[in-house]
Amino acid sequence: MTDAPAFTTKGRGKLYDSVVATVGDTPVIRINALAPEGVEVYVKAEFFNPAASVKDRLALSIIEEAERSGALKPGQTVVEATSGNTGIGLAMVCAAKGYPLVVTMAESFSVERRKLMRMFGAQVVLTPKEQKGTGMYNKAVELAEVNGWFLARQFETDANAKIHENTTAREILADFDGKQLDYWVTGYGTGGTMTGVARVLRKERPETKIVLSEPANAALLTSGTPQKRTKSHAPAESHPAFQPHPIQGWTPDFIPYVLQEAVDGAYYDEVMPISGPEGIAWAQKLAQKEGILTGISGGSTFAVAMKIAEKAAPGTVILVMLPDTGERYMSTPLFEAIPADMSEDEMALSKSTPGYQMG
Ligand code: PMP
Repeated sequence: MTDAPAFTTKGRGKLYDSVVATVGDTPVIRINALAPEGVEVYVKAEFFNPAASVKDRLALSIIEEAERSGALKPGQTVVEATSGNTGIGLAMVCAAKGYPLVVTMAESFSVERRKLMRMFGAQVVLTPKEQKGTGMYNKAVELAEVNGWFLARQFETDANAKIHENTTAREILADFDGKQLDYWVTGYGTGGTMTGVARVLRKERPETKIVLSEPANAALLTSGTPQKRTKSHAPAESHPAFQPHPIQGWTPDFIPYVLQEAVDGAYYDEVMPISGPEGIAWAQKLAQKEGILTGISGGSTFAVAMKIAEKAAPGTVILVMLPDTGERYMSTPLFEAIPADMSEDEMALSKSTPGYQMG
């Protein structure tokens, strides 16, 4: 028995015109069991977006900016190279707004991602895994040129960082209004989250340290080697420090142009590499100790935050980006150690009462 009032809700007090109107305004949630004593750790849970990832923001921004500029005509096909979440976000937005979508994707990414895009009505064209991110990108460019389709260009478009500047960053400012914020921790895929949020935090919260993470075995920024680019800012070749890594959605085989602004403008205070297995372990702990289900990149960002938290002075406040849901990783190493069959303990429970028993 407790005196706590019963859990109630009161509705949002408005009706939404379309699913796209539900993008953004994701909750910031306190970490209870996993945070070291005296350190306040919060996560911004991007899986509350309608297609369950941070990339819903980008998808909506790209489509609506192109509608406004006239670059995208009614009914015109949209094409993009994406490791998954951008494709799923675009598929959701294109379905809601009536645009056909074609996605190019390296065959190495998880099957659930392809199926989700096809569920939303998109077409998915696979490219060989040996050709990495550059291969799927080149295929998308080719399809756009040959067919006169609208190429979304998530790695170069201004619409990417802009939406994080206008939404993600504003939400963080509002939710931490009047409250201390010592660290903001993120990884990068396109760099949209990093560049857009940092534009605002550097101005409005200059005391907040910005920590950027990347995979330990694909530490492109840590290597210090600059990215070679074409005239249209696309990568001219694969970055020499790249190696395949398990943190899907993070660090393609090049430094994206959208991220370059953050690199050149010193938008982050530190780059902290993290290994895939550490990220996976922390994603599992977040699920089991906090009830927060996030993907490998969320676990990896959280792993970096835990390294900061362990050394931080009491009273330190840390905010961590969780880009997507763990449900998107059933066929990946995140779920590899999670069994489908009953364990001995579960079998013993099955046999422990006279009711229905499995043999
Ligand atoms: N994590 C996951 C799972 C993602 O799909 C992405 C986007 N590719 C990111 C992190 C990084 O986001 P951004 O592109 O804004 O850098």
